[in-house]
Amino acid sequence: MTPLHAELARLIAVEGPITVARYMALCLGDPRFGYYMTRDPFGADGDFTTAPEISQMFGELVGLWCADAWQRMGRPGRVLLVELGPGRGTLMADALRAARIVPGFRDALEVHLVETSPVLRERQRATLAEAGVAVSWHAGIEDLPDGPLLVVANEFFDALPVRQIVARGGRWHERLVGLDDAGGLIFGLAPEAFPASAPAGPDGGVLELHELGTRIAATLAGRIAATGGAMLAIDYGYEGPALGDTLQALKRHAFVDVLADPGEADLTVHVDFHALGVAARGAGAAVHGPVGQGAFLRELGIAARAAALSRRAADGGEAQRRALARLTDEGPAGMGSLFKVLAVTQAGLGTPAGFDSVPQAGELSRSPGGESS
Ligand code: SAH
Repeated sequence: MTPLHAELARLIAVEGPITVARYMALCLGDPRFGYYMTRDPFGADGDFTTAPEISQMFGELVGLWCADAWQRMGRPGRVLLVELGPGRGTLMADALRAARIVPGFRDALEVHLVETSPVLRERQRATLAEAGVAVSWHAGIEDLPDGPLLVVANEFFDALPVRQIVARGGRWHERLVGLDDAGGLIFGLAPEAFPASAPAGPDGGVLELHELGTRIAATLAGRIAATGGAMLAIDYGYEGPALGDTLQALKRHAFVDVLADPGEADLTVHVDFHALGVAARGAGAAVHGPVGQGAFLRELGIAARAAALSRRAADGGEAQRRALARLTDEGPAGMGSLFKVLAVTQAGLGTPAGFDSVPQAGELSRSPGGESS
């Protein structure tokens, strides 16, 4: 039994079964035993590998995307470069290095990292020590100072808690985590019906409610609409609404039971990009995509970058070719179409770099002369 399992058993014994969202939030963010609060989970020796950890090309291209957005914004003299859930700080370090080639951009930047994990904050501090820019840390987006924003979020929204509701007898019931007679964690359903606008279909259908993710997207989009800027959200996800239980646990690069090792396995859900887009549009910003990560990176020139790095590589470019394939391949082994990219911008920035290849979200309903709506 993990230490967090013991905590959860005590909590449930006192308060009764908890929501899936609370379970997820405690597993990832409990101050003492939460998964991210106690470890650096990335890389071959860890539990999973993210795009910036696969290759420097990923962060570099994201950095150039930000520099391009800054130019479209009219090169404001001060802009907040914000990363949500920066992990080891690798993406930001690569982005800042690449962005040097755009004159004036780095001088305008203030880097703000939104990170709850003390372990990862230390790691980010070390990674960015030589970056030559001022960096501040925040526990949440509410603490970000005023000013135009460039926001980057890679595999951040998938770590935010969702509620799950399950269809039974023509109604929705919230899925809860409770205890069995032996003190083990089990899923169950709340007896009372859950009020949801979507009709409950056949028994067993699961709908995930991304309440925190959509709130964060709406808040940032509202700021972007009011004071300018752009946001890039990259994640494993789909365009909902769709039914399905996507909650999964990962340990040492393999799937494990979601309830088996609370606090010691990574928990994620697939991101509903439609829900994020609706939230951002509702807050007054323009929304672009989602497009596949492969199409996005290709349009930003990843093939040329891989070729340039290969020419200098001792292995003849084999590692670069593998990284390129992993980041962009559209088959089940690659991230090219499983991972998607959504951009949120202030009005008037046009179609952001990387979003030309695919029809824009809302293209069919676009009002004459307006931004995609
Ligand atoms: N972007 C990084 C790390 C992704 S893992 C990469 O691509 O490698 C998720 C990151 O989000 C971790 O840094 C984790 O500590 C952070 N995180 C998770 N939940 C968070 C929350 N509610 N608020 C802020 N950061 C959070």
